[in-house]
Amino acid sequence: MGASHQTRFWHRLDDGRVECDVCPRACRLHEGQRGFCFVRAREGGEVVLTTYGRSSGFCVDPIEKKPLDHFLPGTSVLSFGTAGCNLGCKFCQNWDISKSREIDTLADAASPEALAEAAVRLGCRSVAFTYNDPVIFLEYATDVADACRARGIKAVAVTAGYVSPGARQELFAHMDAANVDLKAFTEPFYRNTCAGHLQPVLETLEYLVHETDVWVEITTLLIPGLNDGDAELDELTSWVGERLGPAVPLHFTAFHPDWKLRDRPHTPATTLRRAREIGLANRLRYVYTGNVHDREGQSTYCHACGALLIERDWYELGAWSLTDGRCASCGEPCAGVFEERPGTWGARRLPVRLAGA
Ligand code: SF4
Repeated sequence: MGASHQTRFWHRLDDGRVECDVCPRACRLHEGQRGFCFVRAREGGEVVLTTYGRSSGFCVDPIEKKPLDHFLPGTSVLSFGTAGCNLGCKFCQNWDISKSREIDTLADAASPEALAEAAVRLGCRSVAFTYNDPVIFLEYATDVADACRARGIKAVAVTAGYVSPGARQELFAHMDAANVDLKAFTEPFYRNTCAGHLQPVLETLEYLVHETDVWVEITTLLIPGLNDGDAELDELTSWVGERLGPAVPLHFTAFHPDWKLRDRPHTPATTLRRAREIGLANRLRYVYTGNVHDREGQSTYCHACGALLIERDWYELGAWSLTDGRCASCGEPCAGVFEERPGTWGARRLPVRLAGA
């Protein structure tokens, strides 16, 4: 695979093994073994990252695709990922990358500096660690973030938030925004469908919102019959309102059958709208539907006067009624990171190669 890179966040055990401290999985490794994520491995008695400087591909996307609706709307973001994942979601929508065991997936080489220069050259306002979770390639993600920030490019983490406290602090100290998956609101779902646990994800969300300046939005992929019941959605949205506050945007997105979960149907648009209604009834200010056309459910409204602030249809922006991040009608601030005008990238998706970078 790629070049092995030294890491922190591991310790030696009395029985001769080493334990990785990056995520709650706490893999215990003998020499030559790889962790569950497959990209952190024991070499020469230490835990190394085997995918440093390698990527599974690059693409210029609308920032709304991450999804981030309150972070520099309308601008483009240079997206990339590596390989592997520290969760085992049966419904993974990027399984070719997350479950990759092949060097072919990491065809593109890119130093942090080359990546930052590419982002500038391509006119991107930010770079996003996405496709797979930056938690597992933390050293590479933070070096890329630093190189980007030095050139005025923001850093965005798209993550499941399944990370231990020390690594969590290190990763997010280098980020400007994050979209965190809250995959469901029950422990059995996390255990049986994702091979993980719910509590560390809730802790990551509370940490981000209350102890950092990172702009945070949440995504819940609704899977028919598994995490879309009224009671669960009521509990989830109540928790977000009470523990994180009403201004954290929440995206309910549609599932399509994939990977090991092909016996479930696509999520109907009515389910997404129902989830949004439950969130709004629990006084969340910004609840969105995703992966469907739904102008009403994807637009941003002023929580004080109800005026339309940002019109959206999927990734396409329409009317814009924000002045200095405030409602142009009543002056109430809208939570987020806004500029005077929205970007003009639109819904385009542009794959790019950084050959020789
Ligand atoms: S980051 Fe990888 S190696 Fe470390 S504990 Fe998590 S799954 Fe295991």
